[in-house]
Amino acid sequence: MKKKRLEKKHRKSVRNRNWEDKNKHDFAFTHDLVKHRRAVVKLPETPPNLNPLPSNFEPNATVIAHSKKWAFVQLAGKEQLCLIDERLKEERSTLLAPGDAVLVEFEARDAIVRGVAPRRTKLSRPAGEHGRLAEQVVAANADLLVVVAATVRPPFRLGLVDRFLIAAEVGGVEPILCVNKMDLVEEEPEAVRLYRSLDLRVFLTSCETGDGIGALRDALRGKVSVLAGHSGVGKSSLLNAMDPHLIVHTREVSQATHRGRHATTAAHLYELSGDIRIIDTPGIRALGLWGVSAAEVAHYFPDLAQMAAACRFRNCTHVHEPHCAVLEAVAQGSLSRLRYDSYRRIRASLESETGMTPGRRLAGEQGPPLPEPGGP
Ligand code: GDP
Ligand code: ZN
Repeated sequence: MKKKRLEKKHRKSVRNRNWEDKNKHDFAFTHDLVKHRRAVVKLPETPPNLNPLPSNFEPNATVIAHSKKWAFVQLAGKEQLCLIDERLKEERSTLLAPGDAVLVEFEARDAIVRGVAPRRTKLSRPAGEHGRLAEQVVAANADLLVVVAATVRPPFRLGLVDRFLIAAEVGGVEPILCVNKMDLVEEEPEAVRLYRSLDLRVFLTSCETGDGIGALRDALRGKVSVLAGHSGVGKSSLLNAMDPHLIVHTREVSQATHRGRHATTAAHLYELSGDIRIIDTPGIRALGLWGVSAAEVAHYFPDLAQMAAACRFRNCTHVHEPHCAVLEAVAQGSLSRLRYDSYRRIRASLESETGMTPGRRLAGEQGPPLPEPGGP
């Protein structure tokens, strides 16, 4: 009883962005809608689990949003609120994520998630629980990660782009770069040239003029994509520009954790005309790096990694060592300082408490202070 009240109280404070209505933009509350839907759909207290779990199955639904107990899925073109079979919960740390392919079976009138297919790809971040770090998968089975950056307002920041590129590579998702707000500048930001030279597909867009929107649409056709980027770069504007008649699935599922704290998952699965599907989840905006140690960062900078072959020390951190080919390249101008600084910042953040992968820190890996404090 007490738990229920607590949950209700907290749910009121959950604010959710409404992508459909520009005027209400940051002040939209969707919990009323969720409450309404919950009232309509009656859930039994405990899921019946008499039948054995299927081991070999063809998934028939896609997860849009979920809590520990329930999942909103897309099943045969319709949305369905499901229970999750209790027995699945022991299987892996993040049982469900938006985009997961699941098997839903019906028992009497109840829909129950009975199986979760292995993930083709995943985007993860470290999530802390009781002081320990665990992997939290924020999106599953995405084909593309669209890294969205603005030319200006907010300024183009390499650090953010690089973090997303690493997360994409770790999770097996193909990244593309979308540089939006091209109408505000004469030329593309200098750093974009760097990414082109790394064979990253780059799309220059403007939601104001519509330039480049068609090309972006073509790239996303037939795929499941995740849009990631700093707030204000134009992610919602891009969605609207690609399809003014968006079909938006918004689901919010709340639950009280066992400590009485409140966790909310709000996720969206957008279906755009032209066979484009986009997962939006709040987790993706704060995508941390999971499964990457400070020592591994250089591997994800292919240009830097190539030069590192000529460093004197095999375990060179490219921060303070003598005869470091990377530092020499920066001094000579053959490696962009922008790019090197981004490497340093990401590396430093992984050495700090929050970005650290447990058990993977190498002792004595601390360099001199960074050229500029702060950074992403
Ligand atoms: P989000 O936070 O990434 O979803 O960004 P929004 O789509 O809400 O856009 C943030 C602001 O940038 C809004 O005021 C948009 O009108 C504006 N904006 C988005 N795209 C463009 C663009 O291509 N050019 C210009 N000039 N402004 C844009
Ligand atoms: Zn080096």
